[in-house]
Amino acid sequence: MPERSNQRTAYFNGNYVPEGEVRVPFRDRSFLYGDGCFDMTRTFAGKPFRVKEHIDRFYRSLAYLGIDIGLKPTELTDITHEVVRRNAHLLGQGDDWWVGQRVSRGIKSVGEGMDPWEDMGPSVIVDCMPLPFKARAAHYRDGIRVVVPSVRRTPPGSLSPRVKTHNYLNMVMADMEARERDPEAWAVLLDENGNLCEGMGSNIFVVKEGRISTPQGRYVLEGISRQTVIELARQEGFEVVERDIDLYDAYTADEVFLTSTSLCLCPVSKVNHAAIGGGTVPGPVAARLLKAYSDYVGIDIAQQYLSRLK
Ligand code: PMP
Repeated sequence: MPERSNQRTAYFNGNYVPEGEVRVPFRDRSFLYGDGCFDMTRTFAGKPFRVKEHIDRFYRSLAYLGIDIGLKPTELTDITHEVVRRNAHLLGQGDDWWVGQRVSRGIKSVGEGMDPWEDMGPSVIVDCMPLPFKARAAHYRDGIRVVVPSVRRTPPGSLSPRVKTHNYLNMVMADMEARERDPEAWAVLLDENGNLCEGMGSNIFVVKEGRISTPQGRYVLEGISRQTVIELARQEGFEVVERDIDLYDAYTADEVFLTSTSLCLCPVSKVNHAAIGGGTVPGPVAARLLKAYSDYVGIDIAQQYLSRLK
């Protein structure tokens, strides 16, 4: 029987333990170098969303980094469901989880006599934590303000942005710069060619005359929510294209929105100085896609956030 403590349970290297007991040594390469990767899904009414897509993306990140965790995707899928199951009694009314799979390459000792560290293979952690509905609720009322910082997204030739590594420093620096200009803003970086790319945890879409565009997959983490929105938009009869989008396209767009696991889809009210579509959100396309997304997952996504404003 799963334990019923009031501390969340996480999976850690073969065991289910209280989250506070998950401890990674400071010699671990993820701590030292960001040498690891992760993935994050969310639940809707406690049920994890598109686990297969997230696990598949996670195994592509592992393959890129050349890390073998000794678990089959089906085993990690079962562990993911088990973590959610063991924490179900801690989920508040109307709340939902972020659910993460995280792997570090482990420890490589330097092999000297005084070295207390053995070589240690990958650490595998699966955890959950509540989604920040309250902190982000106003974004569904007012829209997100996007600031484009001077920091460019790491180019694919240096480190593929399609991999969800533990090294987010490029986007952390971008976020710091954006928040300096507007503490509530979200950064969306340009790619090496000056086209819009992505933010620390989000993909961007622009809408012009009913046509929906998003940056090319090669330059971004191809979000599972990005993919979900592309599918839903096509089902709704919209044309969706992956293409280079510059600041002119964004400033003159009818609508701009972000997608991410936590947000699903959230309208953008401003990009830098430019009020998008007059600044009223959501625009008609975002509203229609939010409804389609909500119907698809069986939860009113915006309402789940907006209800926290009261
Ligand atoms: N880009 C980056 C860099 C991200 O970290 C995320 C969050 N995983 C996304 C885009 C959005 O991806 P998803 O829709 O799968 O959450």
